[in-house]
Amino acid sequence: MPDICLCLTAETMAQNNALFRQYRSCIDMVELRVDLLSDAEQATLRADPELAVREFHGVDSILTVRRKIDGGSWKRSEVERIALLEHMLPAGFTSIDVEADQVGLSDRLSLIASARAAGVTVIASRHYMEYVPTDLDSELQRLSAIGDYAKIAARPNGIADFRRLLHAARAHAGPHVVLGMGSYGVASRIMGHTFGNRFTFSSAADVQQAASGHISPDVLQTLYAHGETGSATRYFAVAGDPIAHSKSPEYHNRRFRADGLNALYVPFRVDDFDEFMELARELPLSGISVTVPHKESAARAAATVNEGVTATRACNTLIRQSDGSYRGVNTDIEGFLSAIRTRLSTFRGATVLGAGGAARAAVYALASEGVPVLVCNRTLSRAQTLVAELGEILRDEGQSTALSAAALPGDGTDLGAYGDLIVQTSSVGMHPDHEGDPIPAYRFCGTETVYDIIYTPPMTPVLKRAQQAGCAIVNGSGMFDAQADAQYRLFRTVLP
Ligand code: NAP
Repeated sequence: MPDICLCLTAETMAQNNALFRQYRSCIDMVELRVDLLSDAEQATLRADPELAVREFHGVDSILTVRRKIDGGSWKRSEVERIALLEHMLPAGFTSIDVEADQVGLSDRLSLIASARAAGVTVIASRHYMEYVPTDLDSELQRLSAIGDYAKIAARPNGIADFRRLLHAARAHAGPHVVLGMGSYGVASRIMGHTFGNRFTFSSAADVQQAASGHISPDVLQTLYAHGETGSATRYFAVAGDPIAHSKSPEYHNRRFRADGLNALYVPFRVDDFDEFMELARELPLSGISVTVPHKESAARAAATVNEGVTATRACNTLIRQSDGSYRGVNTDIEGFLSAIRTRLSTFRGATVLGAGGAARAAVYALASEGVPVLVCNRTLSRAQTLVAELGEILRDEGQSTALSAAALPGDGTDLGAYGDLIVQTSSVGMHPDHEGDPIPAYRFCGTETVYDIIYTPPMTPVLKRAQQAGCAIVNGSGMFDAQADAQYRLFRTVLP
């Protein structure tokens, strides 16, 4: 299991020492980022280098002075930087980070020789702030030849890049740390065991992150069960874009812990769903929650599906079968209904805003319960296609509920009986779009029940307007919990 290394990024040693004490119970190492200390603090450490490590009892400590091109803040010359590292090396650090790129490598070779003489472990590192290089395997070999650890931190720009990092890490036999920076790399910081990483870097909450995508040590330890995962751990994931707001990791990891299961649930920002499914087979992932905008791709990727997926062509849950293929299930349908089931009989009709995967689940669920539905979408043709396709499926199932399509309602639109329930399923108003309202000109009468299936934020602009007009409102939290509970019960079926 990789160790957790807390990056100390404060401007003063007093602040860094306070962070160390705050997180001491959940970290194994610290990295002192000298480049982020104020000029005055750097001068103090130059005069008395031992001040830098005096308080770090019982943990390993890495000395780092990061250049700007590697994401650091060092302002002075390269000669001064190497001199500072040489000067501070004997202070009692257990490791030193040495950027092992070609430029100026001779300076660094002498620094490495000094480190070796002082018994300090050398982390030979490369940082790729904007991309993942093509020659990862040979670069890791080169870094291993230079230092005791090879470290590559690179920014994936999609899941294909993430896969390349994973492949290189898994293929490299020597001690290493291979991490993905930014939103596409987050899982590499959580799944260190699958990367064969010796440690993972983290930053304290509410302070400057040492690198983008860092997770705080307490979140790594409690939410992501750091220290408990190993070769027997089963992995689950949520795939979507955006994904940072998702409540699913908290929900499923909490339930895995409560049930004492050796399972870990990890968020993935996914641009290309087919590429993600390749990754899912490689890891492998035992179960996957699928969210915006990939539910229709997930329905296509599944080898077998349940009737909810067939009807909606949207799949929010994939379960790995014993032959390695995935079965697709839609738990949004029952989740959607659970929040309004007790009031269903009061609705003479409903308007569904949006025509994506979630809209299909909502329309299918309402029509199956006999509620006539008007589907309104920005792209009218998509609403018409949804109505035509679901109408045919419902007729095949023996249902004759009326479905119709229209453009999004504007000022003066009278929805009639379809206004009894207005269901907002478009992604407008979802975090980070806190201002978005899909029907800004529509005037609520106050008699409508308005159900926005978005749960982050809990009060979207359209819900706020509806409430101010006197409407009954429902947000997406109840739907989330109900669909997640159904999903969790499916995940349990593939765990020993
Ligand atoms: P999706 O398949 O990507 O569909 C997105 C829909 O939003 C489409 O109808 C799209 O219209 C519409 N849209 C996007 N931008 C728009 C804009 N600027 N103006 C007007 N319409 C716009 O997404 P989905 O899977 O259906 O999910 C939609 C939302 O439901 C997400 O916010 C998701 O978080 C939420 N959700 C919540 C739960 C829950 O448990 N509470 C479950 C599932 C989904 P076009 O066709 O014109 O592009």
